[in-house]
Order: sequence, then structure tokens, then C-alpha cells
Amino acid sequence: MQIITPGMRLVPEAVLANDAALFRTIPETPSHVDTSLHRVVIVGGGAGGLELATRLGRKFGKRRLSVTLVDRNRTHIWKPLLHEVASGALNASHDAVEYIAHASRHGYRYRIGEVVGIDRAKRQVFVAPSFDDDGRQVIPPRVLGYDTLVMAVGSVSNDFGTPGAARHAISLDTAEQAARFNKRMIDACLRANAQYEQLSPGQLHCVIVGAGATGVELAAELHKSMREIASHNLDNIDFERLIRITIVEAGPRILPALPEHIAQASARLLVKLGVQIRCGIRVSEVREDGIRLGEKLFVPAELVVWAAGIKAPDFLKKLDGLETDRINRLVVDETLQAGEDENVFAIGDCASCVLPGGGEPLPPRAQTAHQQADHLVKVIAARLEGRAAPAFRYRDYGSLVSLADYDSFGRLIGGLKIEGVLARLVYRSLYKLHLKAVHGLAKTTLDSIGEMVARRTRSRIKLH
Ligand SMILES: Cc1cc2nc3c(=O)[nH]c(=O)nc-3n(C[C@H](O)[C@H](O)[C@H](O)COP(=O)(O)OP(=O)(O)OC[C@H]3O[C@@H](n4cnc5c(N)ncnc54)[C@H](O)[C@@H]3O)c2cc1C
Repeated sequence: MQIITPGMRLVPEAVLANDAALFRTIPETPSHVDTSLHRVVIVGGGAGGLELATRLGRKFGKRRLSVTLVDRNRTHIWKPLLHEVASGALNASHDAVEYIAHASRHGYRYRIGEVVGIDRAKRQVFVAPSFDDDGRQVIPPRVLGYDTLVMAVGSVSNDFGTPGAARHAISLDTAEQAARFNKRMIDACLRANAQYEQLSPGQLHCVIVGAGATGVELAAELHKSMREIASHNLDNIDFERLIRITIVEAGPRILPALPEHIAQASARLLVKLGVQIRCGIRVSEVREDGIRLGEKLFVPAELVVWAAGIKAPDFLKKLDGLETDRINRLVVDETLQAGEDENVFAIGDCASCVLPGGGEPLPPRAQTAHQQADHLVKVIAARLEGRAAPAFRYRDYGSLVSLADYDSFGRLIGGLKIEGVLARLVYRSLYKLHLKAVHGLAKTTLDSIGEMVARRTRSRIKLH
């Protein structure tokens, strides 16, 4: 076995990820904080983790708690915006939160790195080394100690082992993937424009696999964005006629997890826009030049997006014996505690939380992550005071789907149906609530005003 010593360079990440024993040879990283403080380590600074770190930092400051947020990225972008990043409707660099600056303003510490394992007996978290774009190590492997650990690492898309999906389809799990798709889409338009209608089969055809909210909202955003890109001097060909978007769904209808009336209204609008919807058929293979449906049918396509189902990251399966469900989520009880370990909690997409009388795990949504982050603030306060942790109660505030600027549909708490401008406003307000939780009311209001002004002068669509 290779022995790692602190400061040793260029340790292959794969080795570290596969053998937690290697980390046990590394001494715990000194924390430089008062050791009498209760140490909370939050892994993952997304919809749930960042809100939790911010609220704990603000509420308890650095005097009562030592809060450390570990994320493998340097910036945070709210995941429900990723389809807008993919279509170019949103420029990720405008909306991203820089963890380093945010942490110093909100009373917690941020550490970059990918967590690959934990040692529950020693209460330690293993963080893989990070490297720059040239492959040089920036930060060596580290071991962080905790008293309370919160896993908030979210989910990744699940291709169910479909041949070729990992290689040829793009998922929208990260801002980098969304930006990569956006670049491919712009390149597709430029390439087609240079060919003067001599297009090969599948050119300018985008297939979206999965008709959940992500797939459906993306279809509408792409419909708008691709035409808008074409309107910027790409006048050699008739994009209106040549762009094609298809949604493929294995289930019997689009938006399977949402109420029927939202699915029907969305389907009507998409069909009106010319988006093809194919339900009740499975993608059996993704190739460089298209997809195979069922046994025989091949559909040529230049762009394939995989948005069919999610799973929690694979490393959770081996998280020092903690129980997981069939899609790798950590099984938590009603206080959000993971398994039998009273020091480990999980929130958001990576937690499988079945509440008493609930039957199914709570849905993987931003509102679940938000409510669970709120709840963990109470749980951690109770731990500090030696009280029993309170039980989590989930409130379903409804479901909304926003189809670019075309229309929005939803159902609010109490079954109230909404659509149009009102639904769009409620949809946007969800993001504003996240910003308020992360930045506070004053900054969110000022940023919103600044954004309204900036929108008048900059291009509606990102073109590079
Ligand atoms: C395109 C799209 C549209 C969506 N639209 C909606 C919507 O309209 N409404 C809604 O309610 N939900 C929506 N969702 C779902 C919603 O985004 C998620 O439910 C929510 O973000 C889950 O929050 P989370 O905190 O659990 O995880 P995330 O927000 O995904 O955050 C996870 C964080 O963990 C970090 N991380 C992961 N692994 C590691 C590791 N090993 N070490 C360190 N850091 C790690 C990641 O970098 C990330 O910052 C959408 C999702 C997508 C992809």
C-alpha cells in the first residue's frame, strides 16, 4: 500500500477515492479555532448546504460554533437555473456566489475539495486533493474533524447504464456541463449557418431524454434561445424551419411527478411550438450521431441531453457503513439523522427521507432542501443545548413549471391552479427566496434592481 504523507504531491485521485485507508495515515488538519467549539462540517454548498452554512454562521457566529462548508467548486449557482444556463438565457458568471467571499461575510469557513469518505468512529471527513487546469496540485489531501456532519451533496443524473449515454449525452448536473451544452448549441447553429442548407440528417436536432420538469423547461428554453441566436446575423438558412426539438419519455405522459392539468397545459404549449413529444418509449442507446429508440428505431440528432431520473453520488454507497437506498441516497429518520449515527445528518437530494405516514421518500426538489436546511438549524441548536432533536415536518407548497417566456403553469398549496404572469412571478420568487436566505433581504433587493437595469442594456442571450 502506498503511504501518503502530508504535503506529498500528485496523489492519483482514483487511488484516494477507492481506498479510505490511505487517509487514515494523514493527520487531522489543524482547525485554528477554539477547540472547545462544536464543529459542524457541511459537505456540499448547494440549495440546502449553502443556506444551512449561512444560517448557522449568522445565528451562532464563530463564537458558539465552528461551521465549515466543503464544496468541490469555488462558486455556487442555484441548480434549478441550470437549464437557463444551458440555453444561454442566463449567464452563470452573473448569478454565481463565490464561496470564499460569502463565507467570510457570513461567519462560516469554506474549504474547497471533493469529499470522498468519512471515518465515523474518529469523526473525520476525507477531502481529496484539488488540482489546477494543468494538473498541478493546489491543495493536498486533508482530513477534517467534526462533531456534527451534514451531507448535502445533491444528486447526479441517472442514465440507468444506457449504452453510450455517459459518453455522448450531456447532463445538466453542474454549471460546467450546462455551459458546455450552451457552447455546443451555439457551435451547432454557426456550423449549420455556414453550410447553406446542406445539412446532414440530425443536424440542428436536439433530443431531450426525460420529460420531468428539467426536460420540459429545457425544451421551451431551447426553442426560444436557438431562434434568438439565429436572429443575430445567422441569415444563411431558415432556422425556423430547420431547428427540431424532441422530448423522449419512457412513461405514459410528460411531467409524470406533477399534476395532470400542468402536464396537459405544458404538452399543448410545446406541441404548438413544434416540439415533438414521444412518450412510452425507452432510449436504448446514445450514439455520437443520435439515439436508438427501443429495438430498431434510430433517430439522428446533433445534441442529446440526458434528463431522465437522478441518483445520489456513488461514493455515498460506501460511506463508512451508513444505510443507503437503491439510488445511493442516505436513509435518514424524521430528525434527518443518517442511520444510527447521531452525529451524521443528510439533507436535500442525497437524503432518502420517508416521514411517518408518507410512504414515498420526499421529492428531490429545491423546496425540500430549503426546508430541511431550516430544520437542521433547529436540530443543531438542540444539540448544543443538550435537548432532543425535533422531528422534521415537510410542507408541499405546490409545483410550478415555467416554459421560457411563453407561459407558466402551477398548482399551489390547497390545490389552487395558477398560470401565466402570476405563475411566472411565483416561479421567479422561489429563486429570490433562495437569494434572500443566502444574501439577506437588503442585498437581494439591491441586486434585483441592478439586474432589472442591466437587462435593458445587455443581450438577452449569451452568445459566446
Ligand atoms: C436543470 C434543473 C432544474 C431544476 N428545477 C427545479 C425547480 O424548478 N424546482 C425545484 O424545486 N427543484 C428543481 N430542480 C431540483 C433542485 O435543483 C434540487 O432538488 C436541489 O438543488 C437539491 O439541493 P441539494 O442542496 O440537495 O443539492 P445541490 O443543490 O445539487 O448541491 C449539491 C452541492 O454539493 C456539491 N458536491 C457534490 N458532491 C460533492 C463532494 N463529494 N464533495 C464536496 N462537494 C460536493 C456540489 O458541488 C453542489 O454544490 C432542478 C434541477 C435541475 C438539474
